[in-house]
Amino acid sequence: MAVTTDGPLTVTADGPLTLAGVRDLHRRWLDGAAFDIGYPNAADFDPSMLLRLFDVTLNNVGHPFTPTSGFSGHSLPLEQQLIRELGATFRCPPDLVTGFVTSGSTEAVRAALLAARRRFRRRLIVYASTAAHTCVAKLAEELCLPLRQVPARADGTMDTTALAELVQQRRRGVAVLVVATIGTTMLEAVDDVPAIHTALDAAGVPAKSRWVHADAALAGIPLAMADPAGRPGFDIGDGADSINISGHKYLGVPTPCGAIVLRTDRCTPPDLTPTYTGAPDLTPAGSRSGHTPVLMLAALRGFGTDGLRSRAETCRSHAATLVELLTAADVPAWRHQDAFTVVFPAPSDRLRARWPLPVQDGWGHVICMPGKPFTRYERFAAEYLADRRDHGGHPLPGRPPAVAADLEDAIAC
Ligand SMILES: *Cc1c(COP(=O)(O)O)cnc(C)c1O
Repeated sequence: MAVTTDGPLTVTADGPLTLAGVRDLHRRWLDGAAFDIGYPNAADFDPSMLLRLFDVTLNNVGHPFTPTSGFSGHSLPLEQQLIRELGATFRCPPDLVTGFVTSGSTEAVRAALLAARRRFRRRLIVYASTAAHTCVAKLAEELCLPLRQVPARADGTMDTTALAELVQQRRRGVAVLVVATIGTTMLEAVDDVPAIHTALDAAGVPAKSRWVHADAALAGIPLAMADPAGRPGFDIGDGADSINISGHKYLGVPTPCGAIVLRTDRCTPPDLTPTYTGAPDLTPAGSRSGHTPVLMLAALRGFGTDGLRSRAETCRSHAATLVELLTAADVPAWRHQDAFTVVFPAPSDRLRARWPLPVQDGWGHVICMPGKPFTRYERFAAEYLADRRDHGGHPLPGRPPAVAADLEDAIAC
C-alpha cells in the first residue's frame, strides 16, 4: 500500500497496509498539524505508554456505577474512578456523583437531555442560547423536545433577561431545561449558571421543575482550575445539575471521547432490567470504548492538578500576547478574560486556504491550546498582517458575532 504525498489523501487500492504506508500517513497528518490553530485539540498528551493496551478488547457495556459480572474485558471500575474525579473537579457532592464516558460532548449532551426527559416525563422545554453548539438543536429535534433559542449578547453569552421572558411564556406545569454553554464554539463565551437560576427564579420556575446542564466541552477543566471567586459560575457547585467535557479537547486524547457527570438525586432510575452482561444498562449507547476512560484518566493523572492549571495559564498568556500583537497593528482583536480563543475580523479566503480557521458572521478565531507552540500563532499573525497590508485589510464585520435576533419556534415532532 502506498500513500499519496500531496493532493487528496488516498492509499492505493491494492495490497495490505504496510509500515511504510502508515508512516506516510503519519507524516501527512503531522505536517497538517502545523497549521492547525483554529480547533481546540490539545497536542501535548503523550499516550505512548498506553499503546500497550491496544491489543486487548475493552468494551464497557452497561453503567460504571452498577456491579459487573465475570467478564473481564472492560474498564468499568476505572471509568467510575474517572467520573468520581471529574465529579470532585466540578464540585459535585461525592455521595451524589454518577455519570459515564461517552463518544464526545454531543453524546453527553444527549444523555443529559434524555435524563431530564425521563425525570420530567417529557413535559419540558429546552432553552439554549443562539451561540450554543449546533448539537443542541440537532438533539432536541432527535429527541422530540421543543427548543427555544435565547438570544446571545454581542459577547456570545446568553441574555438571561431574554431567558426569563421566554420561560415566562411557557404553559403552566411545563419543566425547564437550560443548556448553559461553558465556552461557546466561536467566542468561548461562558454562560453564568447562577444568573440562569436567578432568571428562572424571576420567571417563577420551582426548583423541582428545572434542570441546568453545563456543556463545558472545552472550557470546563481549565475553568475549574481557576479561583471560583474570579470566574463565572458554571459547575455543579455553582448550581448545575449535570456537566460534560470532551476528552479530545483540553485533555488532548487523540481520539474523540467525552464524559458526563450527573447528580444522582436529579436522575430517575430507568428500567433496571439486566442485560446479557448481568448489569442493568443505564447508558444510552450499547458497546462503549473501554480504552477512552483509561486515556482520559491517564491524562488527568499525568498532568495532575498543577499541570492542568499551568497549561491553562500558558494558553491564556499566549492568547493575551496574540491579542496584543494584533491590536498593536490596529486589528480589532479581542478575547474573553479566561479564554484561549482570540477573535478578529475573518481572514481572506486566500489565507484560509493555508490556515483552516472557522469563520462566522465576518469573524474568525484561533484557539491557543496546550502543546501548540506560540511560534505557530506568531507565524499566522505575521501572515495575517501581511495579507491585510497587501490586500487592503479585512472588511470590518457589520454586526457583532453570535447575535441572532429571531427566535426559532419549537421543533415540532
Ligand atoms: C466541541 C463542542 C461540542 C461537541 O463536542 P463533540 O465532542 O465534538 O461531540 C459541544 N459543545 C461545545 C460547547 C463544544 O465546544
